[in-house]
Amino acid sequence: MNNIGVRETEVVVAGAGQAGLAAAFHLRRAGYEPDRDFVVLDHAPRPGGAWPFRWPTLTYGKVHGMHALPGMELTGADPDRPSSKVIGAYFGTYERTFGLRVHRPVDVRTVRDGADGPLLLETSEGTYATRALVNATGTWDRPFWPRFPGQEVFTRRPGPPPHVQPHHRNRRLPAGRRTRRRRDQNRRRRHPLRHRLPPHPGPPGPAPTERAPAAGTVTSAHLRGGGGQDA
Ligand SMILES: Cc1cc2nc3c(=O)[nH]c(=O)nc-3n(C[C@H](O)[C@H](O)[C@H](O)COP(=O)(O)OP(=O)(O)OC[C@H]3O[C@@H](n4cnc5c(N)ncnc54)[C@H](O)[C@@H]3O)c2cc1C
Repeated sequence: MNNIGVRETEVVVAGAGQAGLAAAFHLRRAGYEPDRDFVVLDHAPRPGGAWPFRWPTLTYGKVHGMHALPGMELTGADPDRPSSKVIGAYFGTYERTFGLRVHRPVDVRTVRDGADGPLLLETSEGTYATRALVNATGTWDRPFWPRFPGQEVFTRRPGPPPHVQPHHRNRRLPAGRRTRRRRDQNRRRRHPLRHRLPPHPGPPGPAPTERAPAAGTVTSAHLRGGGGQDA
């Protein structure tokens, strides 16, 4: 740390998911020392990158295979355990085995050019001055939402998604809400891409010649940008 409280390092790796850990491994292999020549900052409370946030029914046996981190395979995992637990534990072991010393939870908030060369990172742990930044923050925290007509009035059902509330499905609801929920589930099963919306003008172009979608619905064809009918 210099005399104005800025921590100086050669490289900052922001994010300790698959990408960040692999970068940190190769920095070590190239002779860089953690906490001296480089630091890994991650704002999640525990190891695993995006994985610990996967729904509990996604067991390890159901994932489409996981590319191993460099230098250590993941072997002998129980296929019936949630992948969030299996891969979280694997990443934790990996960090310890290679002494990567991930700082968490540390949020990287801004990156800007320093006056005399290095990049300046503002983090919840203070300011870092670094020659290089590996941005390995993934795509999960701020997913890209594509534009589609009517999205400004789209609302989902209130509350967190079911996988965030593991016991949600088994909770006893008042009779009226149970019926409504069953009806909504059946409707979603029949028309997975159809959501009720107030009427919108639809896409520009000639009037459809075949049966038009019911007013106030968004169909899979709208989502693809064609404005046609849903199956
Ligand atoms: C539905 C779904 C299923 C998938 N299934 C599989 C599968 O079966 N097998 C497979 O191999 N891949 C699968 N993937 C892909 C896999 O999840 C990603 O490829 C992988 O997580 C990408 O790793 P990453 O390191 O780039 O990002 P992440 O794993 O997202 O890690 C990013 C890290 O950066 C941290 N971070 C973010 N912002 C900041 C910040 N500002 N400051 C500090 N830290 C920050 C986060 O806390 C996180 O730890 C799936 C993806 C999806 C969407």
